[in-house]
Amino acid sequence: MKNQQVAEILEKMADLLEFKGEMPFKIAAYRKASRTINDLTEDIEKIWQEGRLAEIPGVGKSLQGKIDQFLAEGKIRQLDELLEQVPRDIFELLSIQNFGPKSVALAYKKLGVETLDDLEKVLDDGSLATLPGMGAKKVENIRKGLELRKTAGSRISIGIALPIVEKVISYIKEKAGSKIGRISPAGSVRRSRETVHDIDILAETDHGGEVIEIFTHMPRVTQVLGAGDTKGSVVLDDRFQVDLRAVKSESYGAAQQYFTGSKDHNVHLREIAKKNGYKINEYGIYKGEDKIGGEDEKDIYRLLKMSWIPPELRENRGEIEAALENALPELVTVQDIKSDLHIHSTFSDGQLTVEEMAEQVRSMGYSFMAFCDHSKYAVYANGLDEKRLLQEILEIRQLNEKYDDFVVLTGSEVDILPDGSLDFSDEILAQLDFVVASIHSAFKTDPTMRTLAAMENKYVDVIAHPTGRLISRREGFSPDMDKVIEKAAQTGTALEVNSYWDRLDLSDIHVKKAVEHGVKISINTDSHNPHHLSMMALGVGNARRGWAKKSDVINAMTLDELRAWQKRSNEK
Ligand SMILES: [Zn+2]
Ligand SMILES: [Zn+2]
Repeated sequence: MKNQQVAEILEKMADLLEFKGEMPFKIAAYRKASRTINDLTEDIEKIWQEGRLAEIPGVGKSLQGKIDQFLAEGKIRQLDELLEQVPRDIFELLSIQNFGPKSVALAYKKLGVETLDDLEKVLDDGSLATLPGMGAKKVENIRKGLELRKTAGSRISIGIALPIVEKVISYIKEKAGSKIGRISPAGSVRRSRETVHDIDILAETDHGGEVIEIFTHMPRVTQVLGAGDTKGSVVLDDRFQVDLRAVKSESYGAAQQYFTGSKDHNVHLREIAKKNGYKINEYGIYKGEDKIGGEDEKDIYRLLKMSWIPPELRENRGEIEAALENALPELVTVQDIKSDLHIHSTFSDGQLTVEEMAEQVRSMGYSFMAFCDHSKYAVYANGLDEKRLLQEILEIRQLNEKYDDFVVLTGSEVDILPDGSLDFSDEILAQLDFVVASIHSAFKTDPTMRTLAAMENKYVDVIAHPTGRLISRREGFSPDMDKVIEKAAQTGTALEVNSYWDRLDLSDIHVKKAVEHGVKISINTDSHNPHHLSMMALGVGNARRGWAKKSDVINAMTLDELRAWQKRSNEK
């Protein structure tokens, strides 16, 4: 499938047009088409061959022409022309937070900045600061953005890594058949970290060489870094390093423990083993010279007299101490989730109608959901005014008559305005079943005050994506999370774990803090189309990394429990 490549190239076009100062609606059209194509389940080449490009929503004549050129000739002429007029590393430069297209253009024209190194130089020698409009604060922010870009650039989001892992595993299973037994991810993927360096997979087998051979000959392998009887290492799509280890049954559990990490967790665990006269390594657990376990990962923790530790907790953040006292939390699981409470429809910027989307959410096996479309302040996202919101409420009420096993709640993702007030009056909010509130603009205008103010409202159930970060692109608006958590506890407002792969907001650290303060969390996908719904697993993974139990999560409540929990029902 070339869907991802087409999506990427349209995104690049959008970046270049933005750099050239083109009209915003034109740029937005490219970005929207890019997202849509990335999320298509059908192969774009097939759609193209059958002459059905026009059927893709948001893809007009001119975009069809570009996609057609790309699929026929492997390139888009206009893109090549544009590329000749811009800095060499334009896309890297544009990906820096706080360094917008206008600033990039200025630095390019006046100082010849073409690469990240050039940018670093003009930051260091002070020449960037001499350009018009570049105040000290702005220059400092660009420097921060450059640093973030350097560290984030080498990591892959879990949302991208996980589907790759699933594909690789099912490919090996299919091709190797009975030659393999257990097979699972290890490393930071298994720990559900928000970003990972490379992808580690373990396979239980007595036919190492053959299995590695299958692995190195997979489709999408663009480079083989190494291939032996116990380990193979490849690069997929020129981007992702994947390592496969072939392990004998008797060592599979030990290898799983060893390669799952984290490093800090393993160092601490080895110390404890040593104190008790044991030795552990990737082959097993030993007492003196005798191997006494290793086939099953649970053996190792059991022999060290502690409970088995879920991989998500293995960061040496107190989990070993808790396991020794048999006091680990019973973490929330995907099976505990009964609802998705932040879903968009075509009323704002979602891709499916209320009815179509509700059907998709229902097919996830949940018992209820809430539509939280954008409010009017979010003009870019087709936010609803009061009149259209009331229409949506009516439509949802009608829809509910269809179901006896599923409930659709009316709701809103109401914008928190720069002055801390909400985009809808209490009168309007009172008519909704469920409300999430969030900041989408004016990031620099006192985000902490605004978030705290929103939580004072009795109709606000959840603060959505509380920090506004985008993992690959921006730090967000960084509210004072200690204050936010304190106020959430005080007012009985939940904080969201937004499960969208590039958000995962709250982060694991913030979830842990929130849960420790008795704050409830809400794990939602913020889905704008049905493909986003499966990201619930990423949000649950993040919540587990934050030590969240079922009882901490409002999505694990029944509808009656949720209603009883809401502030508005506790007021009277
Ligand atoms: Zn939002
Ligand atoms: Zn949303």
